[in-house]
Amino acid sequence: MSARTHLLLLALAACPGLLAAQTPTRSTEAPLTSLPYTPGLDVSAMDKFADPCVDFYRFACGGWMKSNPIPPDESRWSVYGKLAWENQRFLWGILDGLANGTAGRSAAQQKIGDYFAACMDEAAVEKSGARPLKPALDRIFRMKSKRDLPALLARLQLATGSGGLFFGFDSNQDYADATQVIAFAGAGGLGLPDRDFYTKDDDKSKELRARYAAHVARMFGLLGDPPDAATREAATVMEIETRLARASLTRTERRDPYKLFHKTDARGLKALTPGFDWDVYLETAGLPGLNTFNVTEPDFYRELDRQWRSLALADIKTYLRWHVAHAGAPFLSSAFVNEDFDFFGRTLYGVPELRSRWKRCVALVDAQLGEALGEEYVRRAFSPELKRRTLHMTEQIERAMDDDLGRLEWMSAATQQKALEKLRAIVNKIGYPDKWRDYGSLEVGRNDFFGNAERASLFESRRRLAKIGKPLDRGEWSMTPLTVNAYYDAHMNDINFAAGVLQPPLYDPKMDDAPNYGNTGGTIGHELTHGFDDEGRQFDAQGNLKDWWTEKDAREFNGRAQCIVDQYAQYTIVDDIRINSRLTEGEDIADLGGLVLAWAAWKAETAGAKPESRDGFTPEQRFFVGYAQWACESNRPEDLRARALTDAHSPGKYRVNGLVVNMPEFERAFSCKAGAPMVRENRCRVW
Ligand SMILES: [Zn+2]
Repeated sequence: MSARTHLLLLALAACPGLLAAQTPTRSTEAPLTSLPYTPGLDVSAMDKFADPCVDFYRFACGGWMKSNPIPPDESRWSVYGKLAWENQRFLWGILDGLANGTAGRSAAQQKIGDYFAACMDEAAVEKSGARPLKPALDRIFRMKSKRDLPALLARLQLATGSGGLFFGFDSNQDYADATQVIAFAGAGGLGLPDRDFYTKDDDKSKELRARYAAHVARMFGLLGDPPDAATREAATVMEIETRLARASLTRTERRDPYKLFHKTDARGLKALTPGFDWDVYLETAGLPGLNTFNVTEPDFYRELDRQWRSLALADIKTYLRWHVAHAGAPFLSSAFVNEDFDFFGRTLYGVPELRSRWKRCVALVDAQLGEALGEEYVRRAFSPELKRRTLHMTEQIERAMDDDLGRLEWMSAATQQKALEKLRAIVNKIGYPDKWRDYGSLEVGRNDFFGNAERASLFESRRRLAKIGKPLDRGEWSMTPLTVNAYYDAHMNDINFAAGVLQPPLYDPKMDDAPNYGNTGGTIGHELTHGFDDEGRQFDAQGNLKDWWTEKDAREFNGRAQCIVDQYAQYTIVDDIRINSRLTEGEDIADLGGLVLAWAAWKAETAGAKPESRDGFTPEQRFFVGYAQWACESNRPEDLRARALTDAHSPGKYRVNGLVVNMPEFERAFSCKAGAPMVRENRCRVW
């Protein structure tokens, strides 16, 4: 349930920081011929010596943390991460087969098999060194004046699929009319994962920036620049990125959709950046004559214009060269891969070891050809029976929410009616898309790893931009089927559960309802509740940004949400860093609302039956342990620091302990005494 609200999804960058990371030690690394089974409630993962009323997270997860140390190539380790690693090992075997046995492959199988083969051919990749970057670097070198920037930028952005080159340009649904897809011009241009990394003043942040600059300099060194020039160039990059960071909204500000919605025509866009020829940019991007844009952050574009005017041509070239090398690093020789890992893995997230090549290659196939790979996965690991059962559970949770909404005392009948309308309009997408993406026009060669990656980025960029002005495809997914995750999309008003997240130990068809409703039921409730969290509630049943609340009901909601914000603000993540509970507000609301719904749905599902105690635990206790056991995790301190700035989810410990303190059902299930740490006097409750 590291699930997320999907509000603005910029193009996938082929950058290691964006690829899901997952894996233990080298000795256990071999392809799997079938997915291993871990029960949905694992008694051995508990710490029965811990007191559930004092620290429920330790009670449910203590054993797991002891027997699952963080693998050397991971920044964190979790039940979700471990399952993702198993999925990857399973797919490794399949990809290996498709790479070697070339007879009788379908068109899609040829693409993923050959992509994997080319990626695994380390000797060829090593031999080509930095050469694959040459065409892009030559184009930058040949820039004669800033007038050449728009066309060059369009080409580089498309080919890298990266929002790291000054800004992001993508398609998305119009917030005011969700049936329309329009162009989104977003903020971007940074190498570090968030603007806050550039603006924070504490010693650790300053040290991290110094190390980042040193990394940028070493990357220039790998491009052949002498050391003193490389150091100067890195300083230029830092200066440009810092100015862009300061002009960008914070992650918390970006949770307010009104702050991100500024629709304008071509004239308005040009007025923001008079020094930039948008006609040339759009023409080169294959979008001539476009006249509707959402400029998500106008102030950012004003700053861009100032930069483009004031920067010397040589500095612009320096900045572009860095971002081209940065985006390309994972696809180049070990000198680039290791340097990239040294900062973005080791320094930033505290990871000791680079992931094995097979794992990086499986992740890249997923990132670039995810639905073709997903088709293979679904065929083997997600039966129609599994789909039927998880869909039934989804419908039960929705029914529980329907009942609950109708009974809410703090909400007027008028708003209740609108909320019910929205709930009933939510589309359930379970496992995988009804129609698989057609990669037909994407050419994948067996001996051209870098070329494959570039063509795949180009294919994806073009696919996304081609949606502008066309009817909305409501069947589309923005997550691949093997992903161990789920999401709610406020513009689509749909909930999406990838097949990868509906596997044991998360959803366990061999288990009874209690742990399954606690675990997967809680996730389903979580995603549904996102439609009604502080962010999601601002969109209507059709996905339009539209206020359907009476003023009084909105006030009531905000008061209840504030209770959660105040509660989570007390929790410490690492050292002196506390949860930024304005950033995690939506997730924390969804966690609580989700489990309240799962409980009600479970009670309805098992009404009349008499669920039995097992392993010495009552059904109610097993419901809560089942819930907690999705969240077992350990993190390296560097990972916690980075996530404190970037992750909208609270750490696992608080997603469990911070939640159960708000549920009287928990207090009763474990007969906790008043005053125990897991019993809160003034409980929060939104939904
Ligand atoms: Zn979420």
